[in-house]
Amino acid sequence: MELRNLAIIAHVDHGKTTLVDELLKQSGTFRENQNVDERVMDSNDLEKERGITILAKNTAVEWNNIRMNIVDTPGHADFGGEVERILSMVDGVLLLVDAAEGPMPQTKFVTSKALSLGLKPIVVINKADKPDARPDWVLDQIFDLFVALDASDEQLDFPVIYSSAKLGWAVNDLEDDKKDMQIVFEKISQHISKPNLDTQADFSMLVTTLEADNFLGRILTGRVESGTVKVGDNLQALNLETGLVEKARIAKLLMCKGLEKINVDTASAGDIVSIAGFTKATVADTICSEKISTPLEALPITPPTMSMTVSVNDSPLVGRDGDKLTGNMIAERLYKEAETNIAIKITQSPQKDALEVAGRGELQLGVLLENMRREGFEMTVAPPRVIFREENGVKHEPMEEVQIDVDEEFSGVVVEKLGKRKAEMKAMVPSGAGKVRLTFEMPARGLIGYQSEFLSDTRGTGILSRSFLGYAPYKGDIEGRREGVLVSQETGKSVAYALANLESRGIMFIDAGVDIYCGMIIGENSKENDLDVNPLKGKQLTNVRASGKDDAVKLTPPKRFTLESAIAYIQSDERVEITPNHIRLRKAHLDINERKKASKGKL
Ligand code: GDP
Repeated sequence: MELRNLAIIAHVDHGKTTLVDELLKQSGTFRENQNVDERVMDSNDLEKERGITILAKNTAVEWNNIRMNIVDTPGHADFGGEVERILSMVDGVLLLVDAAEGPMPQTKFVTSKALSLGLKPIVVINKADKPDARPDWVLDQIFDLFVALDASDEQLDFPVIYSSAKLGWAVNDLEDDKKDMQIVFEKISQHISKPNLDTQADFSMLVTTLEADNFLGRILTGRVESGTVKVGDNLQALNLETGLVEKARIAKLLMCKGLEKINVDTASAGDIVSIAGFTKATVADTICSEKISTPLEALPITPPTMSMTVSVNDSPLVGRDGDKLTGNMIAERLYKEAETNIAIKITQSPQKDALEVAGRGELQLGVLLENMRREGFEMTVAPPRVIFREENGVKHEPMEEVQIDVDEEFSGVVVEKLGKRKAEMKAMVPSGAGKVRLTFEMPARGLIGYQSEFLSDTRGTGILSRSFLGYAPYKGDIEGRREGVLVSQETGKSVAYALANLESRGIMFIDAGVDIYCGMIIGENSKENDLDVNPLKGKQLTNVRASGKDDAVKLTPPKRFTLESAIAYIQSDERVEITPNHIRLRKAHLDINERKKASKGKL
């Protein structure tokens, strides 16, 4: 069988999963009776909820005696580290773009990496069946994007396919007969070159992804760079910096077939293969024959730009929901994560029972915490901070490119708010249907907590995407972002009558009849200062029921926080308490006096 290795680049929702499903179906890779309803690429629950791809998954399609390995690329710039390694396995990319929306910043980030690696692009303009499709405009945008990214002439001469993955057709020209997706296979086989590697040389492979399997242990996946490997071979793992990692015997070799990984006896240069048998080797290590002494060059990995302190839950309500509470359990889980997720770095924090978790952004850190919460962990987290760098004695900070699509009427408020967050507008272009597309460059710092403000300013209609640009000199201080908070001075169950009285003070975050504690944040003050309040105070009348619920009182529904919005909301003296069932905001110091001392710098 011939080989083609390619990666798919697509913005969330542009139809990647639907397209891959359809290619599998139409290549006949599925057995007749195999159930293909299951979505192929996005399988993790959290990914589905957030509409992003985190784990890169591989699929292999067999068509006309050609084996096409299709590698997924992470759908968010927070996961940039993964992208770079994954692209090193392929010889071309399929850029999938929505025929109405056009290319988005995430596509830009991954596309720029792909182009700079010299990979050949094939452009698929998908959802061409939609009534608001504007394929010519989208094609122009893609061309301009490639030019802006310094594509070579050969790369600019990319083939274009128009498709409706949903309806199962793809064509060269929108006038053509729309019957199936064969053209996609043909273009892949014609435009993406076969891996040109030496199958006779000594075996070597660079590890690009790492998984943990309960039965097989570590599974190292990569593309075979040279030679051939067989089950039972004795190999070694080399690291670029530290040399020999370990020696091991290959216990199992696995390759993709459709959705599954199947056992194989052997794999050769060009194949994407998963190896079991090693116990220490990791991503960016070289697995090779013992005759080889120099490891393969590994792509540099985008460094973490944001970090957060995670510690045990020390609120009075600890242990009501979760069963994983101790510092050791949290540490063990985080270190395990860092083993298979190389975009995350864990270090011990100077504080007791606390760890510093560094990653690529709020989203990546949020996903990790959400996973842990679902596994039964309880934790306290401090607000995220960007990681600064010193270059030639000057403080540098991570910068992001932000692209925003909004109705024209909302562009004013967006420009104004982002301006306050040190954003510099780079472009403002009408994008049809009364919408404008705004492009900004701004400190990553300025984006913390902006998402929810953005959604309310644009009545939920705006689309914001961001991608990491690099480090630039510090842009100066950004003004405080919000009003003070209402802090409970009591511990007990909140009382409706008290909450009704507090509503005049600001926005409430809690309902009546919920457990609260002294130092917990229960609302936002309408003024700048924090206010200690008593949400337990009942009516001074004897005939009032003692229960928290008071039918006579009508409360405004409280403001609810998601995990990410809570993390973005809190300030440096505040924390989020995360448990399997609750997300509570609190002061770092729960005791009023300690808080006062801390604010005067005495604690
Ligand atoms: P992904 O996030 O890129 O994997 O996108 P999905 O494959 O999950 O598709 C997102 C949504 O777009 C789903 O509701 C699909 O049914 C829909 N969709 C995908 N391809 C097409 C298409 O060609 N035409 C139309 N009209 N909808 C599509």
